Amino acid sequence: MANSQNGWPANRRDLVSSRVVPGSGVRLTVRNGSAGDLLLEVASLFDRLVQDIDAVADDWGYAERPIRGSATISNHASGTAIDLNATRWALGSDPSVNLNEAQIDTVHRIVGATGGVVRWGGDYTGRKDPMHFEINDNRTEADCAAALDQLRATFAFKTTASQSREEDPMAIIPIRVDAAGRFHETAMVEAGGSSAYGERAAITVGSTWGSTTFAVTALNHLATPLFQWPVQLGDNGFWAAELPSDARIVTIEGTVQFPVDVAGTDGTIRQPATRLAAAIHTRARP
Ligand SMILES: [Zn+2]
Repeated sequence: MANSQNGWPANRRDLVSSRVVPGSGVRLTVRNGSAGDLLLEVASLFDRLVQDIDAVADDWGYAERPIRGSATISNHASGTAIDLNATRWALGSDPSVNLNEAQIDTVHRIVGATGGVVRWGGDYTGRKDPMHFEINDNRTEADCAAALDQLRATFAFKTTASQSREEDPMAIIPIRVDAAGRFHETAMVEAGGSSAYGERAAITVGSTWGSTTFAVTALNHLATPLFQWPVQLGDNGFWAAELPSDARIVTIEGTVQFPVDVAGTDGTIRQPATRLAAAIHTRARP
């Protein structure tokens, strides 16, 4: 069985599927499993932080072909490579043909957060291919899964004490935990959309008692999911993330795994308790 240049099985349509890039209307056919998950996450961050990918249908994934001008099987043939905004660059062109310095810097931050698991064609030392992102040589599914976790953690919004003083206004989301430890809350996001002078919104979730696993999902005005963060929060844990600019609704749902036992007033009745709080806050763009 033939492998693509980076070592993944090639020309296997049973190993790939067409999937939506989170937060966009674009579909890419990529390898099933964590390698494809990682490439979709890179595409999603590129779309959100670097350049919109929806305007033109020029984003590609799986293709059964050799590397152009070579006999080596392209990584596109194993579903481990994607091309974004392909018509904005000719093969061999410099990244600066389409991206400014800040955008190139952001691409490097995204790729850098994968710890070398994703390689950008704009960084090729020979013929450059800036539309192209691929899984690097000799990486495993486990490497891809770890890189995906790292990528999500890196681009989660981090608040600091000085930032939190600027936040305004703040909407507290009450979280009601049922007897089985489950919760599911929905809240509106009030932010200024994508205007340069608008505001951006962030969500924070804290737990003072008990450990919690939950998913935070940001949805647009059509209630289409834009982004989902899987979160594991320990006792006295705290988590925060910046919401996409077009987020209008947010859901938080999960389960408390380790509620704290609390003694009743008579000292004998013990019942599990948890204290969870969430808030949405907006902040002017710097
Ligand atoms: Zn490519």
